[in-house]
Amino acid sequence: MIPTTVHGYPRIGGDRELKRACESYWDGRSGAADLDAVAARLRREVWESLRDAGIGTIPSNTFSYYDHVLDNAVLFGLVPERFRAAFEAADDRESELAAYFAMARGTGDLPPMEMTKWFDTNYHYLVPELSPATRPRLAGGKPLSEYTQAKGLGVPTRPVLVGPLTFLMLAKPAADAPEGWRPLNLLDDLLACYSELLDRLSAVGARSVQLDEPILASDEGRAELPALEHAYGRLGAQARRPELLVSTYFGAIGAQALEVLKGTGVEQIGLDLASGPEGVAELARVSGLGDKTLVAGVVDGRNVWRADMPGKLSTLGSVLGLAGRVEVSTSCSLLHVPIDLDAEPGMDPAVRERLAFAKQKVDEVVLLGRALSEGDGAAAAELKAARGSAPASFTNSRVRARLEALGGATTRVGDGRRTVAGKEPVLATTTIGSFPQTPEVRRARADHRAGRIGDGEYERLMRAEIDRVIKLQEDIGLDVLVHGEPERNDMVQYFAEQLDGYATTANGWVQSYGSRCVRPPILYGDVSRPEPMTVDWITYAQSRTDRPVKGMLTGPVTMLAWSFVRDDQPLGDTARQVALALRDEIADLEKGGIRHIQVDEAALRELLPLREESRADYLAWAVESFRLATSGVAASTRIHTHMCYSEFGRIVGAIEALDADVTSVEAARSHMELVGDLSAKGYRRAIGPGVYDIHSPRVPSVEEIEASLRSALRALSPEQLWVNPDCGLKTRGYAEVEPALRNLVEAARRVRAEL
Ligand code: GLN
Ligand code: ZN
Repeated sequence: MIPTTVHGYPRIGGDRELKRACESYWDGRSGAADLDAVAARLRREVWESLRDAGIGTIPSNTFSYYDHVLDNAVLFGLVPERFRAAFEAADDRESELAAYFAMARGTGDLPPMEMTKWFDTNYHYLVPELSPATRPRLAGGKPLSEYTQAKGLGVPTRPVLVGPLTFLMLAKPAADAPEGWRPLNLLDDLLACYSELLDRLSAVGARSVQLDEPILASDEGRAELPALEHAYGRLGAQARRPELLVSTYFGAIGAQALEVLKGTGVEQIGLDLASGPEGVAELARVSGLGDKTLVAGVVDGRNVWRADMPGKLSTLGSVLGLAGRVEVSTSCSLLHVPIDLDAEPGMDPAVRERLAFAKQKVDEVVLLGRALSEGDGAAAAELKAARGSAPASFTNSRVRARLEALGGATTRVGDGRRTVAGKEPVLATTTIGSFPQTPEVRRARADHRAGRIGDGEYERLMRAEIDRVIKLQEDIGLDVLVHGEPERNDMVQYFAEQLDGYATTANGWVQSYGSRCVRPPILYGDVSRPEPMTVDWITYAQSRTDRPVKGMLTGPVTMLAWSFVRDDQPLGDTARQVALALRDEIADLEKGGIRHIQVDEAALRELLPLREESRADYLAWAVESFRLATSGVAASTRIHTHMCYSEFGRIVGAIEALDADVTSVEAARSHMELVGDLSAKGYRRAIGPGVYDIHSPRVPSVEEIEASLRSALRALSPEQLWVNPDCGLKTRGYAEVEPALRNLVEAARRVRAEL
């Protein structure tokens, strides 16, 4: 029998029970015992459902109250200095949980740990802060207690931990660490703790342990092969321990890393053969894994498409001879996909039949295991059913013909300050698009969606909100206004709902961070725009004021980054289709008299490939699709773009190539460093480095904003500098936003007066 496993499973619960339980605990509506009870039940449900589906080796310790990287830090006592006293003094469950959530969410006076993206996924982890003074020790027992809980239910499991290399490489030096010190310097101390834990897991009966090393799919990880060899040489040589599975994912790891792992005492190696199909050739290059087990990640854990079973079987067939034993698995944890397709009865059946969520992917793994064991015989009928009827075609020949005719993106290369469109002054003030989403606005949207209010009433409420936001901006004295985005639930979903080729789900929740979950739309076919999407709202807003109103759209890269995207054609081709729909929308906005149009590319940096060799190709299609969307307008129409990050270093050239007149970016937390960076690299276009950190409720003073502007002016000419917040204002309240914007306008006025 060919064995089966998965690397991990969603932990939020089919009904987002974990979210509700955490939020109720944070609000003081329930206690630690209630929260722990929900957690224990959710873990049990996952283990039992995997067992009942027929999975052979079931993972444990994949549950987390907030984040598994934070759990790993806590497990080894690697708590940031500011939280240490509370953490060490915790002597009951309430204070333990309070200390844990304080690190994740901050307290009145202590800022939380920094949060950042887990590789190129939309999951965010908390970044451990380490310094030479940090002393790792085995401080917790979560993997042990989860293993024991499962064992008590009759389910033997394989505890999962973040591997030592990945953990240290994702950590950052604490503020007090000396220049040049690296968290990886703690490797030996940390390995001693992993050893102790392995010993204890072995004592309670664990037969194997999974150590996740996705860092090996990145250039950074591949550059640390001596550390890899050292770590697994040492753990592999340990006398008393469970079998070790070193699991890698999010890409191939390269023959060299494979050779290193092969040379250590670990018994099992996990490879992601879905996003790194070259892993098969790499296995051949190292002449296979000898008597080690290959955990073959063939079922893609990152997307929602049904597996191509014959293709997967042939991949599995090609690796059977390259390891002592082959175990069928998902490519990575199923954390990144929604739980159950059966929760989507309303979805178009033609789309539905092509999808698989976590539960369905588990069934695919089991079926592949059976088909491989029994030959085509017994599993043949099921395999055939799993293949389903021939997939419906979602091709739109009109879109294809138009793109063909357009060829490469039409060019519109500006000089950074082309014909002045409006009469905005130097140091023009504006915002990023959204204004606070008040409970009234949210209620109106929910009521409309549920049919409790009709279209007419909804439109009246939204227009009243737009009136209010326009008046407020005029009163504050901003130069380029926005309509405030009250009609938008989310900057991607809003457009996905209006574009053909996109489906949205009712319950397809995926954890983004902590208790926050998102429902990524599903881009399944050729994309087209049946009718204008934003024109009515924006032109209405423009009719209410003499100042220019900026139209607001989401760019092609961001539309893909925050969706599940078809994988039957290159991403660049799909991006061009989205771009064409945006191009039409922009033309309609321009026809409607709109002179400033912003195309948000919040995720441009985020989708940058993990490996250098793939970056040029990515940036080429990212830039091309942006230009395809925006290059149809007159030279006098200003194109703006916005990005949610400040480390530009690697992609300045690409940003320049977008050919946007004005780019607004996050900068408040990085103290304008990027401005110097940009001008050093010869950036000539207009830029609005955010001067107000919207991630914090703090209101910046006029003087503070003035100081930021003066510092920006050391590197930029006044014509280049725009004045705006860091990002959209939708998560803030008016109590902070109004004074902050007034201060922003006043600061711009003062600095302008000195020019
Ligand atoms: N226009 C969007 C807003 O203001 C941009 C959001 C974002 O960059 N994430 O909300
Ligand atoms: Zn932003």
